[in-house]
Amino acid sequence: MSEGEDRSGDLTELAKRRGFFLQSAGAYGGVSGFYTFGPNGASLKDNVEDTWRDRFTVREGNMEIDAPTVMPEPVFEASGHLDGFDDMIVECPQCGASHRADHVVEDETDYEEAEALGPERVGEIIAEYELVCPDCGTGLAGEAVEDFNLMFETNIGPGSSSPGYLRPETAQGIFVEFPQLAEYARNQLPFGVTQIGRAYRNEISPRKSLVRVREFTQAELELFIDPEEDEPDLSTVEDVVAPFYSAEAQEADGGEPRELTIGEAVEEGVVTDPWIAYYLGVATEWYERIGVDMDRFRFRQHLSGELAHYAADCWDAESYVTGDWVEIAGFAYRGDYDLSKHDEYSDEDYTVFKQYDEPITVERPTVDPDMSYLGPEFGGAAGDVADALEALAEEDPDAFREAETDADGEGTVTVEVDGDSHEVPVGQTGFAVEEVTESGEHITPHVVEPSLGIDRALYTVLDHCYREDEIDGEERTFLELPAEVAPTTVGVFPLMDRDGLGEEAREVAAELRERGLSVAYDDSGAIGRRYRRQDEVGTPFCVTVDYATIGEARDDDEGEPGTVTVRERDTTAQKRVDVEALPETLDALREGDLAFAEL
Ligand code: AMP
Repeated sequence: MSEGEDRSGDLTELAKRRGFFLQSAGAYGGVSGFYTFGPNGASLKDNVEDTWRDRFTVREGNMEIDAPTVMPEPVFEASGHLDGFDDMIVECPQCGASHRADHVVEDETDYEEAEALGPERVGEIIAEYELVCPDCGTGLAGEAVEDFNLMFETNIGPGSSSPGYLRPETAQGIFVEFPQLAEYARNQLPFGVTQIGRAYRNEISPRKSLVRVREFTQAELELFIDPEEDEPDLSTVEDVVAPFYSAEAQEADGGEPRELTIGEAVEEGVVTDPWIAYYLGVATEWYERIGVDMDRFRFRQHLSGELAHYAADCWDAESYVTGDWVEIAGFAYRGDYDLSKHDEYSDEDYTVFKQYDEPITVERPTVDPDMSYLGPEFGGAAGDVADALEALAEEDPDAFREAETDADGEGTVTVEVDGDSHEVPVGQTGFAVEEVTESGEHITPHVVEPSLGIDRALYTVLDHCYREDEIDGEERTFLELPAEVAPTTVGVFPLMDRDGLGEEAREVAAELRERGLSVAYDDSGAIGRRYRRQDEVGTPFCVTVDYATIGEARDDDEGEPGTVTVRERDTTAQKRVDVEALPETLDALREGDLAFAEL
């Protein structure tokens, strides 16, 4: 695996200078963890989100929603975020800086996933290795390592009676609306709901540019399935190849990721859940499509200590950027955890009714206790005894049947109420077994969740597409962005702004925009400089209007059609194309329906 060098310095400089992203509110000193996407960055982000929507929503037949970013406290009580959405913090006793305790350990020792070790063990390691504050070098041994909740809190409306939180993930906006969403899906499993939107985490120490920020964009899919019946169609992704770094390999000495097809990963039991395997395949294709270098990409399985208690299996997608492997997406089988929680905490029903193929007849044990007996016999506990009899009939009808056959029908059943045992003659319980026909049952769907971070994907794409080469003895920097995501598809230049070349070039630009292409018009400076400017922001094609485009050539049925040169960014090769065919040709090049070499 060629992991390559750390480009973060070059990239941050380029990102700011050419309008990809910059730290927000710099005029006021800036605040870490917040970035503004400039014109090129915002456009790249839109294009990347469009491809995600195309792949995970449209092509999968899922529904997309758009929920609020502020949600009331009960939502996060139910989801578990209020109690457990914490990172480990350690404060420097000297300079007061706060640090992620697990990161301090990972940066200075061989421990890799220190978060999985828990605060106590991390505190011990800090002491054992005599680790110091990364800012001022003061020893951190003995300093408290504590949990710090990452949610931003706010008040909804005046006063503090209605606390709310900025959502730390988009997923809860989907889960809470499940009862209604299931209706939209006509209660048919499986169905998937997607959302792209901002999420907020009050990170202890944001770092590495867009990689760890406090406000970011997530693209999440929650797929609701019937765990007993629904299976993915693996045939569409079984040949997709990716590196898999299993928990076993991570724990073994010298263990390495293995290149496998999705089909092999499932067959060999590397990925145990077929739905997770399916989405690893879909995601691999998507990451490749937006420009991620597959030699700097892998799937890493969570170690047992990292797994959330409800998650059966979990894999992260990781990319190699900033000199390290970084999680860019998580794929989790979440079972019925989320829906059960909202079912328990809210007043709504988070199940779906599953119709049987054929109605079935089942025996239903019932009781109808004789209260004129229970009242005098058990006094104030009579009502509770009746309830306990009902529960017992459901759980253990045989207890009643045995009592009936006992002692000539005089047997008793025993129930517990508040720790006291009570015996009730079976004849007073009104026990009976009815036959009922049932057409289906209520089930709580299970959830499969691919959760992708857009900012980390963007950073990865910029890093992996960054190139330097030499053209005619001159150094050049360019971004080898796929045409589909490049902020600008085509640069249009007049060779010179005279003899009508400028007018013609502006007309060409207008026609390309009419076609829906993103165009940058540039007539300033030497043509070579204009090419470099577009190379640097990843514009895949440039069109130059020259004397062969105008004159008797254009708008003249008699003459030869006018032509322009089309230059390809990566090879800098140029071809002449009929100006009339230009919009169609560039559109086809952008869509990948035509290769430049075929021109
Ligand atoms: P998680 O819910 O922690 O698994 O996060 C899901 C995805 O959101 C991650 O894979 C990241 O791509 C992204 N993400 C999480 N935290 C941050 C952050 N602080 N900054 C940027 N992206 C993040």
